[in-house]
Amino acid sequence: MDTENKTGNLTEKTLDPEDWSAFRRSAHNMLDTCLDHLESLPQGPVWQPVPDAVKQQIAAPLPSEGLPLDEVLSDFTGKVLPYATGNGHPRFFGWVHGTGTPAGVLAEMCAATMNSNCGGRDHGAIYIERQIIEWCRQIFSFPEGAGGILTTGTSTATLIGLVTARTWKLGAGFRKSGPGTEPQLAAYASEQAHSANAKAVEVMGLGSEWLRRIPADEAHGIDAEALRRAIEDDIRNGYQPFCVIGTVGTVNTGGSDDLRKLSEICKQYELWLHVDGAFGAWARLADQPWRNLAEGIEEADSLAFDFHKWMYVQYDAGCVLIKDAALHRAAFAARPDYLQHVENSLGGGDPWFCDLGIDLSRSFRALKVWFTLRHYGFEELGRQITGNCRQARYLADLVARRPELELLAPVSLNICCFRYIASDMPDERLDELNRDIVVRLQGSGIAAPSTTRVQSRLAIRVAITNHRTRLSDLELLCNEVLRLGNALSSGR
Ligand SMILES: *Cc1c(COP(=O)(O)O)cnc(C)c1O
Repeated sequence: MDTENKTGNLTEKTLDPEDWSAFRRSAHNMLDTCLDHLESLPQGPVWQPVPDAVKQQIAAPLPSEGLPLDEVLSDFTGKVLPYATGNGHPRFFGWVHGTGTPAGVLAEMCAATMNSNCGGRDHGAIYIERQIIEWCRQIFSFPEGAGGILTTGTSTATLIGLVTARTWKLGAGFRKSGPGTEPQLAAYASEQAHSANAKAVEVMGLGSEWLRRIPADEAHGIDAEALRRAIEDDIRNGYQPFCVIGTVGTVNTGGSDDLRKLSEICKQYELWLHVDGAFGAWARLADQPWRNLAEGIEEADSLAFDFHKWMYVQYDAGCVLIKDAALHRAAFAARPDYLQHVENSLGGGDPWFCDLGIDLSRSFRALKVWFTLRHYGFEELGRQITGNCRQARYLADLVARRPELELLAPVSLNICCFRYIASDMPDERLDELNRDIVVRLQGSGIAAPSTTRVQSRLAIRVAITNHRTRLSDLELLCNEVLRLGNALSSGR
């Protein structure tokens, strides 16, 4: 490369548009396209598969030369936007997916404008994240001085909570020495607990069999006596229990553990209480009787939960609150020379979030949470959550009224598990039939429940974390399940 060319490259060219007014026009058009999409969501299919032709077009050669922005935008509009997961649609009931909000769309754009790195330093975004954590501390009645951090989701929040628990049990020296001769650590959770808990235990190097799975009782909460027995067995065998994981809102059925009882057991055996409240923690904002399900949540030493499920915030946004902020920091702080704190400068702003979690560079995910909480307010968000619980109950009532439908688990929160039954069919055939019903419901674009197993039966699982769902959507779902069930079972 000759010198002239080199200096040519080094001069004035940036990645900014050469013509800002043309860029503005494109941007405004794109915003309209996005808002049109949101406004017309209920009229479209819940989901449609990505056509093979589109997959092939996406698999383009390496883009060595750039394209005009309008071309990229139109590819997005035509080849990406129509093939969303569908969780913005009023009849999306699969897994536990939040809906997102229009205000959240704007927040994402604002956050991108600032492009803040929230690993640390002294700038506006940090104060927003701290404020979110402060509001959550108040909602969940954690003591003043408790700390926390926003995360990608409950999976990472859980890992942070459990690593802090290990630091509490073994001391921060473990960070340097790694496992030595101390007894094997053991944690406990209900057999209904989410797989994210086992994954956290695996990532910590404990091995997932050291997350003891305790049977659940009829109400789908942890069996406290079985938990005590498991802890005592482990102590007797020379292992070291360190943590009990309680769940508010299990992913299968929406059941919950008795947190007060778990807290008592933790005090008795000197164990850390971690609570997985991914979506269920927000029952705290609902009316009775649902609010009671989060009873005792303030007893947790660490609490993991999401904003992207039941608070309807855009993906991804989770959080962990930890009562002992100093311990939390001791478990994660790591600041080499080039990251040292410098008072009264951009390098100030202690404590830095990078000292409270795994990531050094972090997005400004707090902004979409801030927009959502401030624009809608906790009162309205609480009403939406209550509404979703009522809807799950309403669906259970619809199911109870039809002899061809069977409720498979008690509805305690926002999840309803049921199935279509044809009287002369054995269970294995019913499993297949109900799986087919769900596949067809999704494929037709009419509704998107998912499936799970409840007491070894395949269930159509409807989880409602959706502010757009109406009772009529549940009636339509029910009628379609009946129609498909009748059609498919008469064909067999
Ligand atoms: C979704 C969920 C998780 C995992 O949370 P992510 O935000 O997906 O990482 C953990 N526990 C429960 C009960 C969940 O519903």
